[in-house]
Amino acid sequence: MTYVVTKPCIGTKDRSCVEVCPVDCFYDIKKKKYNSSYGLETEEEDGADAVGLLVIHPDECINCGACETECPVEAIYEDSAVPSDMEEFVKINEDETVSLGDEQLDELRCTAK
Ligand code: SF4
Ligand code: SF4
Repeated sequence: MTYVVTKPCIGTKDRSCVEVCPVDCFYDIKKKKYNSSYGLETEEEDGADAVGLLVIHPDECINCGACETECPVEAIYEDSAVPSDMEEFVKINEDETVSLGDEQLDELRCTAK
């Protein structure tokens, strides 16, 4: 089990979740494909102006649930409870984190400090 971030984070990204996560397992993925696929256009291909979303590393999340209630747009769910129209985000959270090396994870990790 893990928690996952879903579509409403795109265009919001206020990081309320980051403030309460005890293990710093949120990562900032700035990719245009996550904007344009969901109706939010940006100038750049990736990085810089691309908004993207935060994702949760499934192997690092300790399933405490603290982030779920903090999100102002209800973007965070347990993987088993993601609404059917956003199930693809379970794979997006996993794909954008588990294949990364330590150096890349360090670059993208969100911390409250
Ligand atoms: S609190 Fe919700 S909208 Fe804000 S960054 Fe976290 S997942 Fe995204
Ligand atoms: S459930 Fe807990 S450990 Fe997992 S991302 Fe949310 S705050 Fe972090």
